[in-house]
Amino acid sequence: MSGMARKRSQQLYEQACILMPAGVNSPVRAFGSVHGQPLFIQSGQSAYLKDVDGNRYLDCCGSWGPLILGHGHPVVLAAVREICENGLTFGAPHEGEMKLAEAVIQSYPAVEQVRFVNSGTEAVMSALRLARGATGRSLIVKFSGCYHGHSDCMLVEGGSGLATFGTSSSAGVPTGAVADTCVLPLDDEQVVEDLFQSRGEDIAAVVIEPIPANAGLLLQREEYLQFLRQITQRFGALLVLDEVISGFRVGLGGAAARYGLEPDLVTFGKVIGGGLPVGAFGGKRELMAHIAPLGPVYQAGTLSGNPVAMAAGLATLRVLCEEDVYSRLEDLGQRFEREVTPRLKEEGACCARIGSIFWLAFQPKAPRSLETIEAEGMTRYAGFHAAMLEREIYLAPSGYEVGFLNAAMDEQDITTLVDAIDSSLTVVPRG
Ligand code: PMP
Repeated sequence: MSGMARKRSQQLYEQACILMPAGVNSPVRAFGSVHGQPLFIQSGQSAYLKDVDGNRYLDCCGSWGPLILGHGHPVVLAAVREICENGLTFGAPHEGEMKLAEAVIQSYPAVEQVRFVNSGTEAVMSALRLARGATGRSLIVKFSGCYHGHSDCMLVEGGSGLATFGTSSSAGVPTGAVADTCVLPLDDEQVVEDLFQSRGEDIAAVVIEPIPANAGLLLQREEYLQFLRQITQRFGALLVLDEVISGFRVGLGGAAARYGLEPDLVTFGKVIGGGLPVGAFGGKRELMAHIAPLGPVYQAGTLSGNPVAMAAGLATLRVLCEEDVYSRLEDLGQRFEREVTPRLKEEGACCARIGSIFWLAFQPKAPRSLETIEAEGMTRYAGFHAAMLEREIYLAPSGYEVGFLNAAMDEQDITTLVDAIDSSLTVVPRG
């Protein structure tokens, strides 16, 4: 079927499967949901990925979000090279941590203090522990379609009822670990109101991706997000914005600035590490004082605040501050959306987009909740994904994943992307 050489990738995949479960270190990478085999990557440069068979792709996955500047931005690479000369890790305080902390605090008004961790998962897990520790309450409310990493209490499923407690979505997560997590559908004020009316005194926090980008791109109504702010305040619960994807991606102030929200706690990851493993959580000083060693909420990490990761993150944030990256990305995004939309419409599909985050939905109208995503679209996505690879476009290997534009892309790349979508759509006609 494929005209493209994939031999070396296939060989490596077979060997990798002997060494690692499904040959990968994170499940979606195995290409299972698009019924394919993963490509093994040789290198990434600016807007492009090269695989081990010598094929070159326009990279619209961007390592799942961190690479807002594209691969190997010279400022980021120079910062990493320089800092490596001084040692890779100290396990002791250093100025690099302070510089990145300052950059985060200056960009994001709701954050007065921050603690760095090594992943988005850790950031959310720690923020929720803090929320529980600070409020003395146990219940966490999350929304179906929002992903917050793979800590036990977040691996919980929304069931058939409107509000569901305690059904874990992974083997190995005991019922007890999710018994205090409640899952509600997005985009529905009433179910939130009802839950607060019955359990408001027990709710430590509501956690949400303000720009939900893990089950397609489920852009929320601003008044809905404001409602969550108000109801949490009314009942003394905390609002935790998970900005692991949206933080520093849609602007320096993240989704909070876009929607005029002031969260109690916020989590970051991806862009903040410039391509190295970094997460962070932060909030007002008073709240952060509950964290060890100041307070009783335990949280720690051998490599947390690692100097190389801090330098990559800081260099990335500096470029984002100093160059007009967000308005360029917005221009590219607008053009992409404008050009791709008429073609998608002919196929009964549409494009959801905010800034440089986009999602091609194989349904006429962009959904706002997981429950309104049409399953048939995912079947179509598998063929679409393969057709796009043939046209040298690397999209995330799942229809539920969003795409990312990055600052290394130019107008020609957008034309290439739109043309590839146009012709790939002919390969996956409507069912
Ligand atoms: N929160 C959100 C919103 C995410 O998108 C992700 C990862 N995609 C995480 C948390 C977990 O981050 P990590 O994969 O770095 O653990």
